[in-house]
Amino acid sequence: MNSQDTDALHLALVETLGADCVSLDASVADAHAGDWSDAPRMRPRMTLLPRTPEDVARALRVLGKHRQPVVVQGGLTGLAGGATPQVGEVALSLARVNAIESFDRIGGTLTVQAGVPLEQLQTFVEAEGWFFPLDLGARGTCQIGGNAATNAGGNRVIRFGTMRELILGLEVALSDGTMLSMMNRVTKNTTGVDLKQLFIGSEGTLGVITRVVLKLEPKPSAVNTALCAVATFDDATRLLKSMRARLPGLSSFELMWRDFMNAATDIAHLKAPFGESYPVYVLIETLGESDEDDRRVLEQALERMLDEGIVQDVIVAQTIEHAKQLWAYRETVGELLSKLKPHAAFDIGISMDRMDGFVEDVRTALSERFPHQTHLFFGHLGDGNLHLLSGPYADAADLHRVEELIYAAVGDARGCISAEHGIGVIKEPFLHYSRSEPEIELMKKLKTLLDPIGILNVGRVMM
Ligand code: FAD
Repeated sequence: MNSQDTDALHLALVETLGADCVSLDASVADAHAGDWSDAPRMRPRMTLLPRTPEDVARALRVLGKHRQPVVVQGGLTGLAGGATPQVGEVALSLARVNAIESFDRIGGTLTVQAGVPLEQLQTFVEAEGWFFPLDLGARGTCQIGGNAATNAGGNRVIRFGTMRELILGLEVALSDGTMLSMMNRVTKNTTGVDLKQLFIGSEGTLGVITRVVLKLEPKPSAVNTALCAVATFDDATRLLKSMRARLPGLSSFELMWRDFMNAATDIAHLKAPFGESYPVYVLIETLGESDEDDRRVLEQALERMLDEGIVQDVIVAQTIEHAKQLWAYRETVGELLSKLKPHAAFDIGISMDRMDGFVEDVRTALSERFPHQTHLFFGHLGDGNLHLLSGPYADAADLHRVEELIYAAVGDARGCISAEHGIGVIKEPFLHYSRSEPEIELMKKLKTLLDPIGILNVGRVMM
C-alpha cells in the first residue's frame, strides 16, 4: 500500500473516530506489536483505540471500504500469536472500550464492554457479594473480550466450566460494520440457533466482540486450599475421583510434575513445600460457605487418602496468606514463560486415560531430541488439559520441530492441540492434527460468510 492510500485511510479513520483514537506513533505501535507468545513482533501500520462499541463498528466499516486487514487486540496476554500484527495490518485495540454498563444484582448478571480487564471485573462483583469464577494467571491484563474470543479456561473449569459456560449474551461488530446484538440475559433461551457460540472461541476471525453479558455466581465465603504430594500419576487420578465424590465445593485440581515444581521453586526462590521431593504435586481448592466446616471436610478427605497410601504428604492452608503461598508454585508460570523464551508453550487436551502414557512418551522423546532445553509439565487434570512449557529454542527450525513432534503425538492420542489458548498463528499449521478436512472446510465457509472481504484476523486459526 502506498503513502497516498495510507493518507486516505488515516484521514477517513480520523474523521470517523477522532484524531485521538487513531495513532501513527511508533511508541504506540511498539506497545501493540505483539502478544505474550513468541510469534515475531511487528509494528501495526496504524493503531486504533476506539472509545465505544459503536466506534468499533464504524472503524470496521471504514477498514472494509479500504480493504484494510486488521488485527483485533484485547489485553495481549494471548499465547498463540493471534493478536500479534502481521505485515501491513492495522491494530484495533479494545483497551478503551471498557465500561461496566449494568448489573442485575438480583439475577446475578453483569453487562460489560469487551475491554474490561478480568481482575477489575472480579473485584467489582465481589464487592457486591457476587463472584465471577473465571480465573487465570493473566487476570490483571487480559480482557473479558479476549477471554470470550479465546474461550478461556483457567483454574476453576472443573467446577464452573470455560468462558462458554459463563456467557449469556454477546454483541459483535462484523467486518462490514454491522452490529450483531445477541444480548440475552437469561439462562434458558430456545429461540433458534445460538449464534453467540460461533464467536466464542473463534479468536476474532468472525467478528469483534464489543459487549458481553456474564453469568455470576454467589460469592463463596470460604476458600480452602491444600497441596498434596503423590507418588504416581495414577494416584493423582484416584485422588481426583475421590475428591470429586467427597468435596462438592471442589473448584481446582491442578497438577504439577516434579520438573515443574523444581523450576518453580528455583525461579521464584520459594522454599520446597515438603522435606522430600515427589514425582507429582496436586493443588486442590474448594469454595464454600463455612471456612472451618469446609476445612474439616477437606482434611478428613485427605487423611483418608493418606491412610490409603494414595497421598504421600499433604499441607492444608490455615490462612489466606498460607493459601497464597501454596498457589505461588503454580503461579510462577508467567516467570517461567519469560525465562524459557523463545519457548514452545503447549496447552493440549488429552483424555485422562491416555495422559500418563502421553507424558512419559513425550518426555522421553523430548529429552532425547532436545537435551539442552527445559521441559516442564503441569495441567488442569480434571479438564484433561495438559500444559507443557519447553525452551529456550534459539533456532526457529528447532521450535517448529518440537511443535511438530508434540502435535503429531497429540493427533495419535486423539487429543486436541489447544484446550485453552487457541490456535492463533502459531498453531495454524497444525490444526489438521485436531480437526478433520470437512470441519476445516466448514470453518472456512463460515469465515467467508461473516467476513466476505477478508480483513479480520486473517491467517489466524485457518488459512
Ligand atoms: P489477546 O491476547 O489480546 O487476544 C487473544 C485472541 O483473541 C486474539 O486472536 C485476538 O485477536 C482475539 N481478541 C481479543 N479481544 C477480542 C475481541 N474483543 N473480539 C474478538 N477477538 C478478540 N489462558 C487460559 O485460557 N487459561 C489460563 O489458565 C491461562 N493462563 C495464562 C497465564 C499467563 C501468565 C499468560 C500470559 C496467559 C495465560 N492464558 C491463559 C492465555 C491468555 O491470558 C488468554 O488466552 C486470554 O483469554 C487472552 O485475553 P486477552 O484479552 O489478553 O486477548
